[in-house]
Amino acid sequence: MHRKLIFAVMAAGIVAVPFVHAQQPAASPVPEIAGLPSGARAAAASIDPEKIRAHVRFLSLDLLEGRGPGTRGGELAAEYIATQFALDGVEPAGDNGTYFQHVPLVAVHTIEDKTKFSLAPATGQPVDLAYGTEIVSKDQTGQATADIDAPIVFVGYGIDAPEYNWNDYTGVDLKGKIALMIVNQPPSNDVKFFKGNALTYYGRWTYKYEEAARRGAVGVLLIHRTDLAAYGWEVVRNSQAIEKSYLQNDPSARLQAAAWIQHDVAQRLLTLAGLGDLDKTIDQAGKPGAFHAVELPVRLRAHIESRVRRYVSDNVVGRVPGASADNQAVIYTAHYDHLGIDPDVKGDNIYNGAADNGTGCGILLEIARAYAQSPVRPPHAVYFASVTAEEQGLLGSQFLGQHPPVPTAQMALDLNYDMLLPIGVPRSASLGNADRIDFWPTVQRVAVAFDLALLPDPNPRAGHAYRSDHFSLARTGIPAVSIGQGNLFEGHDEAWGREQSQDYVRHHYHQPSDEYRVDWDFRGNAKMARFGFVLGWLASQQPKSIEWLPGDEFEAARKARPTQ
Ligand SMILES: [Zn+2]
Repeated sequence: MHRKLIFAVMAAGIVAVPFVHAQQPAASPVPEIAGLPSGARAAAASIDPEKIRAHVRFLSLDLLEGRGPGTRGGELAAEYIATQFALDGVEPAGDNGTYFQHVPLVAVHTIEDKTKFSLAPATGQPVDLAYGTEIVSKDQTGQATADIDAPIVFVGYGIDAPEYNWNDYTGVDLKGKIALMIVNQPPSNDVKFFKGNALTYYGRWTYKYEEAARRGAVGVLLIHRTDLAAYGWEVVRNSQAIEKSYLQNDPSARLQAAAWIQHDVAQRLLTLAGLGDLDKTIDQAGKPGAFHAVELPVRLRAHIESRVRRYVSDNVVGRVPGASADNQAVIYTAHYDHLGIDPDVKGDNIYNGAADNGTGCGILLEIARAYAQSPVRPPHAVYFASVTAEEQGLLGSQFLGQHPPVPTAQMALDLNYDMLLPIGVPRSASLGNADRIDFWPTVQRVAVAFDLALLPDPNPRAGHAYRSDHFSLARTGIPAVSIGQGNLFEGHDEAWGREQSQDYVRHHYHQPSDEYRVDWDFRGNAKMARFGFVLGWLASQQPKSIEWLPGDEFEAARKARPTQ
C-alpha cells in the first residue's frame, strides 16, 4: 500500500490494525522433487509466463507472414530464435559453429492436366484414370517429368513387421514395379497383434510408401476405403492438390508415383486381373497366413509432370553445456514453421500459427534460457532444436534425426512441444509414448508433484504418436515424447477445457485466425515448461541411459543406434 494513503486512512479515524507479514517466501511454482538439486529447481522456477507471451506474440505477428519454410517470414522466425539463444547465453550447435542447420528441401506440385495414368491389362485396351477423382499422385524424386510402364504387384497391407510375424512381401521382388496396397493395418482386438485397436506405424500411409521405396518400387497405389482410412476421398484429394515438400535425396522417399486410388478403381483393377471382389480380398489380406502377394497381369502406365522448387530452410539448434561429457544429452524440440500465406484465400490470408506452434517455441526458448542461466550446470549437455517444415510432414525433425548434434546413442531423451493452448493452468497432461520408456516411473512421480494427472492417449486409432516431431527422433531410437496438456484446468471442469479445445480445432486450427490474443493466460505454458525442464534435468541425471521397453516398435532402432 502506498505510504500517503496509510496516513489518509489513519486521519480518517479508522483504526489501523497493525499486522506482521508472515515472512514466508512466496511458494515456488516448482514443487520439491527428490533428486532435483535446489539450483535446478530455482532455474525452473525462473521460467516466466510473460516471456513466453512475448515470444508467442512476436512469432505470430503478420510481419512474420505465417513462417512458411523457405520464405522470408520463416527465415525471420529462425533468426529471431537464434538471436534469443544468443542473448540468453545458449551456444550455437548448428552447422559450422552457427545456430543454423540447413535442411535441403524440394517442393513438388503435380501438374494435373499434363499427368496421365492408365491401367494396361495383358490383353485388351488400357483404361485411363481420371486424375483427381480416381487417382492422385506425387513424384517424390523431385524430377520435372517421369514415365512409368511397370507391372503391378498386389502386396496386401504392404507391411513387413517381424515382431508380429507378418510379411506381405514374402516371395516378391518389387524392384522397378508398382505396389498395390491397402491403407491401415490388419484388424485386431489383440494388443499383442498390431496393438489391437491402436494404430501402429505400420498402418500409416507414410510407412507404406517408405517400405515400398526401400524395396525398390517405383510407385505405390494405395487403395482408399473411407472406413479404413478414417477420412473421405476429398481429404486425400485436397491434401494432394497442394504442393508437398520432401527432403532432398531422402532414401525413404524415392517413389515416382506415390499415389492413392479410389476404391472403385481398385475394384476395376482386380476385375481386370481376374481376382474378383476387392472387399473380400481385403478381408482375406488381414488374416494371418491367408494372403500371398501376387503380380497382376496389368501394368501401370503413367506420364507425370511436376512443378518442382528446390529450397533450403533451417533448423535452429542451440546447446547448454553440461557438467560432464555429452553422453546423456537431452534434447528439446518445437517446430517454428507454419503454413505461410495462401494467396488464394480472400481477406486475411496469413496463417499466423500463434498456438501452432508459437506456443511450443515460446516454451522452448524459456526452457533454454532457464538452463543457460541456471546457477548449477545440468549433469550433461542439453540441446534445443526449433525445427522447420513440420507442417510439410515432420521434415525438419527427420533431417535432425538423420544428422543429430550428438550421436544418437548419446541422446537420453527428446521432449517435444507442439501447440499448447494458453488458456489457464492445466491440471492434466498427456505424454503419448512416455509409458513405453523405462523413464516412465520418473515421469509419473514428477507429474504428481506438479499436480498433473497423466492421461492415456484419447484416440489411439488416430496415430498421434506418429504425427509430431518427436516421432522423427523416436524412429532413430531416441526415447522421445511430446508434452501436451489435457482438458482439465484450474478453476474449471473438464467439459470447459474440452469446449475450448474443440472451439480452437473447429475455428482456428490451421486457419488464418490462429492469432495471438491479449487475453491468453500463459501461466499454463510456463507450468508445462517447468514440468519439462524438471523431466529433462532428471533424465540427464539418470545413472544409465533411458530405453524403450522390451518389444516396443522403436526398441530395435535404439539397439542399432549409431555411436559415431
Ligand atoms: Zn500444425
